[in-house]
Amino acid sequence: MSESLPGGLRYSVLGGARSGLAVAHLLASRGATVFLSDSAPREKMHSAAAALEAIGVSFEFGINSRRVLDAETVVVSPGVPSDAPLVKEALARGIGVVSELEVASWFCPAPVVAITGTNGKTTTTVLTGRMLSDARRASVVAGNIGTAFSEVVGNLNGDAVAVLEVSSFQLDYVRSFRPKVAAILNITPDHLDRYGHSFENYIAAKERIFANQGTGDVLIYNADDDVTRTAVTRDVPPPVELLPFSVRRHLDRGAFLSGGVLTVATGGKRHDIVRADAISIRGEHNLANAMAASLAAIVMGVPPASIRSTLRNFKGVEHRLEFVRELDRIVYVNDSKATNVDSVWYALRAFDRPLIVLMGGRDKGNDYGRLREPVQENVRAVVAIGESADKVRAAFAPVVRVESAATMGEAVSAARRLAHPGDIVLLSPACASFDWFENYEHRGRVFKEAVMSLASGS
Ligand code: ADP
Repeated sequence: MSESLPGGLRYSVLGGARSGLAVAHLLASRGATVFLSDSAPREKMHSAAAALEAIGVSFEFGINSRRVLDAETVVVSPGVPSDAPLVKEALARGIGVVSELEVASWFCPAPVVAITGTNGKTTTTVLTGRMLSDARRASVVAGNIGTAFSEVVGNLNGDAVAVLEVSSFQLDYVRSFRPKVAAILNITPDHLDRYGHSFENYIAAKERIFANQGTGDVLIYNADDDVTRTAVTRDVPPPVELLPFSVRRHLDRGAFLSGGVLTVATGGKRHDIVRADAISIRGEHNLANAMAASLAAIVMGVPPASIRSTLRNFKGVEHRLEFVRELDRIVYVNDSKATNVDSVWYALRAFDRPLIVLMGGRDKGNDYGRLREPVQENVRAVVAIGESADKVRAAFAPVVRVESAATMGEAVSAARRLAHPGDIVLLSPACASFDWFENYEHRGRVFKEAVMSLASGS
């Protein structure tokens, strides 16, 4: 049976990874004719081929042919560059170009909480989902986080809540996506290679999260971040309710600290949620994430007492300032997901004990200058790793002791040698992982294995 679909009846899906397969399946199940194209070699796409055959979707692998243009709408996966010739040509011909997020939202009967930002998306998304589930609200957590929105949207009804982690790539091609609650955690330079090296373009992509919002919708945003605040106050449609949060200032509405207590003020009511020092995830950045999640949960009707209990108990997400082990009074922390300078800046300020930091990897054009001051203040030594070890050494040798290591095992041993009892050994690389590892999860696991294999007193 075919429904009337906002993008017509014929679709091409560019990209056959998880979200591409899910959206092809979703569209086919709603009666659309779907063609999927992925330039990855056929040998790598065996399971995708089987899945597509089973649902009657035609496909090509190893090439993106012009057949892609034989559609009313092209669905692009996040990995497809915006200057891909087929995307440009589709746009020039007036063919609709949308993201998987947009398509899934056409079929979503549930209110959506959408969370974006340069850093903190996963932590805040998972935390918001936990607040809902702890309060026994039906909810799903999906998006840029392991489960594609298209995979779960079919199971939702109007009483549930869809909590989505949304990347700027998915926002690039939305048309009607309208979250009930949107949150922008921060906007700092990252991924600029995808945006013509223009920070303005990247900001514009993030702003698309609220572009279709209107009466009854809410936008949560970081009032401490000048870029976010300026963009929001300049461009948000007027009927949208604004809820700022700040870890630095008292606010009239939104979330802020009052006498050390995370406080939320919305709809004329004020709730004392929890003392900031009782929140189990550490650091100022995580306080900001906790504020954003608390605001989203309050808007969705979660009782303050339930939010308090979640914030006391939530242990964070793997590879984000994750406690690994304490050995001989040295604590080991895995922050492998810190793939840019900004997230390391926060990590260096999250502890009140001297740090030995493992830093380096595949450099994305990093400016380490911003880290010099927190390194000088909080770091006893840096262990430089990966392709960018020399650059890391050059950046920090003037202010602190730096050693280089050729493997993760060597780096952990060096860090242990350099650490004094009471110190923290922190993997927070500021770089992508693809030089030595498959991805940041792999890097984090190798670090944890090296730490776990250390023997006491050796
Ligand atoms: P994302 O999904 O946006 O990449 P994560 O929650 O996975 O965000 O965190 C990525 C990295 O950024 C981790 O190193 C984490 O400690 C750090 N981080 C988390 N929240 C913030 C924040 N609000 N501001 C800056 N850095 C953050």
